[in-house]
Amino acid sequence: METYSERSQVHEPRRILITGGAGFIGSNYLLRSVPRNPDVSYVNLDALTYAGNHDNLASIASADNYTFIRGDIADSALVASLFDRYDFTTVLHFAAESHVDRSIHDPLAFVRTNVVGTVTLLEAARAAWAPSSSLPMRRFYHISTDEVFGSLGKEDCFTEKSPYDPRSPYSASKASSDHFVRAYGYTYGLPFVISNCSNNYGPYQYPEKLIPLTISRAIEQGPVPIYGKGENIRDWLYVEDHCEAIETILRSGRPYSTYLIGGDGETPNLSLVTRVLDLVDEFLGRIPGSSRQLIRYVEDRPGHDFRYAMDYARLRRELGWRPVHTLESGLRKTVRWYLDNRDWLRSAHAR
Ligand code: NAD
Repeated sequence: METYSERSQVHEPRRILITGGAGFIGSNYLLRSVPRNPDVSYVNLDALTYAGNHDNLASIASADNYTFIRGDIADSALVASLFDRYDFTTVLHFAAESHVDRSIHDPLAFVRTNVVGTVTLLEAARAAWAPSSSLPMRRFYHISTDEVFGSLGKEDCFTEKSPYDPRSPYSASKASSDHFVRAYGYTYGLPFVISNCSNNYGPYQYPEKLIPLTISRAIEQGPVPIYGKGENIRDWLYVEDHCEAIETILRSGRPYSTYLIGGDGETPNLSLVTRVLDLVDEFLGRIPGSSRQLIRYVEDRPGHDFRYAMDYARLRRELGWRPVHTLESGLRKTVRWYLDNRDWLRSAHAR
């Protein structure tokens, strides 16, 4: 009998349900993919929470192969009706509550969107994609995070085999959604692929996250908060590299598989923030290093994971992907973009 891993690898997406396409990574993905793939139709289902902004997508909003639906992924009647209407070949699931600090204050909102919302999508896909003869042509791609694996010491890296060990309500809800996606694969044969990536940065990221927050405060000359002593280490992945990795995995990734995506950008938070502040000084013609005085050390986040690092050898070896941007080249582009798009930052703060 054919095993899961031997099944056909190539997936030709035709009609894609994108969830959360008005958020940070989803916007970057759609802005890149909709013009490049005129033969693929994209239906973007997004609730437009504080983190979503459909104005990000103005340049593709009237494209023939793009449709926007404002709605909730946990609304089972709506989701089922969309599967009915569009006969999706592919689900690309970005939508989530994504900010760890918010999850500490309101865990249930994270359970609702990240767990119940994901299972609602899985249920709709399961119902719509029966009978099983059509299943090999379909793909449920779930976007997840390295945070599900918990915290590393100074050595080692996460791999696809790392045990799950989530520490925050956010990472616990993402871990739960990963488990449900796999369970639907093994129980119902739903062809899934999961990728767990490191911290993304780039244009259109809501300014509660470290890099756009730092840039925004540097522009206003306001305090730049850093948790603890700023020693926590993250790997940083430029969002365009992430989108390229997603496209590669979507089309060529092995079904029923998981891929890690890393950015080769490991750095402690303090070094990262200092570099971002220095770039703002450079681009605005300020005295070099002058914005460093804005840094304020604040009480550490409860359960703050010390270090995340990624060994993405599988993705490199099997599918030939590697990031194009270094942390320096990605940061330069990112700081430039926020300085050139201060209206976008102002409107995000106003939401
Ligand atoms: P984001 O917070 O910027 O955007 C989330 C989007 O989902 C928003 O447009 C929001 O309106 C929408 N949304 C939220 N709840 C919804 C609901 N119930 N129904 C429909 N839409 C809803 O998030 P992001 O940074 O773009 O992250 C996208 C995905 O990537 C998430 O699944 C996240 O866990 C994962 N991820 C992000 C990072 C990162 O560094 N940003 C890293 C690893 C993984």
